[in-house]
Amino acid sequence: MTGRIVVVGAGVAGVTAAQTLRREGYTGEIVLVGAEHALPYRRPTVSKDLLAGAVALERALLKPAKFWADGDIDLRVATRVDELDVERGEVRLSTGEVLGYDSLLLATGARSRAVATDSRRVHTLRGLADVAALRAAIVDGGSLLVVGGGLIGCEVAATARGLGAQVTLLEAGPALLERIVPAAVSAVVADLHRGHGVRIEHGVSATLTDTAATADTAGGVTATAADGRSWTAAAALVAIGAEPDTALAEAAGLAVNDGIVVDQHYRTSAPGVFAAGDVATGFDPLRGEFARGQHWNGAMSDGAAAARAMLGHEVPPVEVPWGWSDQYGVSLQFAGCVHPHDELVVAGDLAAHDGTVLALRDGRPVGAVAVGRPRDVRALRPVIAAGEPWAGGSLLETVAAR
Ligand SMILES: Cc1cc2nc3c(=O)[nH]c(=O)nc-3n(C[C@H](O)[C@H](O)[C@H](O)COP(=O)(O)OP(=O)(O)OC[C@H]3O[C@@H](n4cnc5c(N)ncnc54)[C@H](O)[C@@H]3O)c2cc1C
Repeated sequence: MTGRIVVVGAGVAGVTAAQTLRREGYTGEIVLVGAEHALPYRRPTVSKDLLAGAVALERALLKPAKFWADGDIDLRVATRVDELDVERGEVRLSTGEVLGYDSLLLATGARSRAVATDSRRVHTLRGLADVAALRAAIVDGGSLLVVGGGLIGCEVAATARGLGAQVTLLEAGPALLERIVPAAVSAVVADLHRGHGVRIEHGVSATLTDTAATADTAGGVTATAADGRSWTAAAALVAIGAEPDTALAEAAGLAVNDGIVVDQHYRTSAPGVFAAGDVATGFDPLRGEFARGQHWNGAMSDGAAAARAMLGHEVPPVEVPWGWSDQYGVSLQFAGCVHPHDELVVAGDLAAHDGTVLALRDGRPVGAVAVGRPRDVRALRPVIAAGEPWAGGSLLETVAAR
């Protein structure tokens, strides 16, 4: 198959798609356009090793620098697609160049949700471009307010403690990582953070304002809760989720509903235009509703599947979504979706960071979370995918049998 495929976004979904197109025998031109200035890198390192200063960027690259020329992939970094014309089948790049396409993949990912503040001490963290300023603020300032106790807030809190900063974590809800783990695991994660000296405050939807320097104090940023409580630090990280980057798709008139809407073949509402990764929302058979992935592995398998779909090849069934986190050297793995009302089957000792939870809804496995036992979640993913009623018995034996 010849012609030209343009991939917009050089994150893991776009990169995997470009690589898969070649692997699947596509011999036409592949143009991979990425707005970020660096070669494609592993985004999860941003809140962990890169922020900690523990690895150089070269170690965090998704592919070695020579991969692109070797694979005959025309990678354009530091270049945005500014406009998509689906009638003409063209994109306009920030360089002014106009490229026609036979097929196009939108893999534009997501952006950090921001709060209204004019403080220059308030940071968000999505990519490499955010790392240097946040790291300098943590190291130089010595104290950090983290607004939001989700995955990125918790990871940055852990990394900042590793850098020696005083950390206060402000969470609006009653539990950390509430969207992805059950209360029993949230409690373990909170204990882990407290054990490392993080102060955690719940029920706080804070307003952030700058605090002026005085003769005795350096300036800072103050978070004020609705009930008047306040906390001050040298800098703040706002980590309250991410919004799909749908601007290009919306301007082109594509169907968007919390993400670019795709069918099971990753097709958008425009002919020849596909979408994959964090920006795409497709039907999730596990949840029985449209949903958007927000984890690394899902974006990677999406990219590969979308590439196959673009070539008219068979598309594998949607995987059970899963992800991981790493805080203070403790690994956390999660798969499927866990609701607060699910029945839980527990194996091992969560508090000792050696335990696994299987969530059952109407008697069927729907999600799993493991603390310090990544193998368990790997083994339980097919159990969740099968959706068979849970027969009872030992969770450990189920895992061991896989
Ligand atoms: C700090 C951080 C830590 C994370 N840690 C974990 C983790 O530990 N485990 C886990 O499972 N998941 C983690 N995730 C989530 C995971 O990284 C994402 O799910 C994944 O990166 C999504 O990949 P993507 O390719 O869909 O989008 P992205 O990675 O967002 O890439 C999209 C790319 O498209 C570019 N782009 C956007 N618009 C345009 C345009 N118009 N023209 C050109 N380029 C454009 C963007 O600049 C970006 O480079 C983390 C995310 C963050 C932000």
